[in-house]
Amino acid sequence: MQDRPLICKDCGREFIFTVREQEFFKEKGFGNDPVRCSDCRKAKKQAQRGNDGHSGGGYGAPRNSGPSSNYGQPRRSRY
Ligand SMILES: [Zn+2]
Repeated sequence: MQDRPLICKDCGREFIFTVREQEFFKEKGFGNDPVRCSDCRKAKKQAQRGNDGHSGGGYGAPRNSGPSSNYGQPRRSRY
C-alpha cells in the first residue's frame, strides 16, 4: 500500500489518502475511498454537531424565557 492523492469533493483540493487511513478504511469495511479532505470532514462533523446542539439546547429554555414574554405584551395592547 502507498499514499494516494485524491481530490476533495467539497473544496476541490488534492489531499492524501494515507496508508494509515487506507488501513483504517479497510478495517472498518468501507468499500469506498474518502471523498473529502480531512479539513472538510472536520468542518462537516462540526456543523452537524453544532446543528444538533443548537436545536437540542435552543428548543426549550431560551425561546420560552425570551420571545414569549415579549410576545404577549404587544398583543394585549392591541386588544
Ligand atoms: Zn476539502
